[in-house]
Amino acid sequence: MSQTVKDYIRTIADFPHEGIMFRDVTTLFADARGFRMAIDQMLHPYAGERIDKVVGLEARGFILGGAIAHQLSTGFVPIRKKGKLPGPVISEAYALEYGEAVMEVHDDALKPGERVLIVDDLLATGGTAEAGIKLCRRMGAEVIGCAFVIDLPDLGGNAKLQALGMPVHVLCSFE
Ligand code: IMP
Repeated sequence: MSQTVKDYIRTIADFPHEGIMFRDVTTLFADARGFRMAIDQMLHPYAGERIDKVVGLEARGFILGGAIAHQLSTGFVPIRKKGKLPGPVISEAYALEYGEAVMEVHDDALKPGERVLIVDDLLATGGTAEAGIKLCRRMGAEVIGCAFVIDLPDLGGNAKLQALGMPVHVLCSFE
């Protein structure tokens, strides 16, 4: 039987903390057929749609987003953790299980009316993606969708983004 994207993803128990099952996409990225399949499947729902920029969430969203932007012949915009981008930024804070995190983007990275696709490897609580959506919208861009390799539906991020009216595309889920 032929392999699916999910078959290429490795699970590492107790990383980064005890009790966490870490879904590791480096094994997917390292495989020529697996990586190609993932990029093709992430793009599939958007065939024929106008996309002006691909936005990637740090850090694995950069690897996926770069390949997707190249395939679409669009530009790529990184959304990074606080303090990493060299130019003037706008910021969005979001809640973590303990404390909060901040995502940033260059304040001139998107233009009003640009149609963007946000990509990352994994959707858990949806906090990171929601911060990304807010940053894009603050620049006047229209987020036409969010695409992920993996969904963890038990953590509620997919439902949260859908409730915001955001179309979500995932390639596989782990319960
Ligand atoms: P969320 O903000 O709770 O949706 O978490 C999603 C972010 O955490 C993404 O940027 C993921 O890369 C990262 N993340 C959380 N759990 C995992 C995992 O098991 N594997 C890979 N990335 C993860």
